[in-house]
Amino acid sequence: MNVLIVVAHPDDEVLGCGATGAALAAAGHAVRTCFLSGHAEARGGRPEGSQLEADMREAQRLLGFGDAFLGGFPNIRLNTVPHIEMVKFIESAMVATHADVIFTHHPGDVNDDHVNVSRACQAAARLSQRQPGLPALRRLYFMEILSSTDWSFAGTGARFDPDTFVAVNGAFEQKMAALRAYRGVMRPYPHPRSEETLRGLATVRGAQAGIGLAEAFVTAFAAGDVRQVLG
Ligand SMILES: [Zn+2]
Repeated sequence: MNVLIVVAHPDDEVLGCGATGAALAAAGHAVRTCFLSGHAEARGGRPEGSQLEADMREAQRLLGFGDAFLGGFPNIRLNTVPHIEMVKFIESAMVATHADVIFTHHPGDVNDDHVNVSRACQAAARLSQRQPGLPALRRLYFMEILSSTDWSFAGTGARFDPDTFVAVNGAFEQKMAALRAYRGVMRPYPHPRSEETLRGLATVRGAQAGIGLAEAFVTAFAAGDVRQVLG
């Protein structure tokens, strides 16, 4: 499989599917991340510029991912970017990787950058049906990101309700190591981006499915032959 993770900010890929991505990479699949705000200026307590880029590269290495795609769209202002520009950037990463499996943000996140990336990714994900010669999309997953997906409000009609649970076990420690590579991301408990909460969420997601530590996703799309979809 050629797996593409489409996210707004450096660290989203680790929080959302870092362990699943690491497990896929360890199994021999190609995994790369496409960051829309790849050169994000500093957010509260976090480094910027070359420091952030160094952290990002170290995190990709720890997870076994290939080189990332770094978009230059403005952090916390993706709602000011024309939708089509983000779609085209994501499409270029899909063409370069021959992506057939995509992970992206859940459209109900409280973070507006995440919502805009999810919408652009949904449009881009249909590329193979518009442009001949590309591998057909097999899977599209929405992921959950602590301090964003869990912060969505009741009554907004778009809460995260997972249907897919991936046992990650050993890869969970790779996720934690990759998160620690991003300086300034982790916070003390009870902040959601704490080691206790991340481990607790993985424990609960695993228990919901009767498996070990797990990451959970919403399957937005799945297509292929019977082995690909049900194998
Ligand atoms: Zn983010």
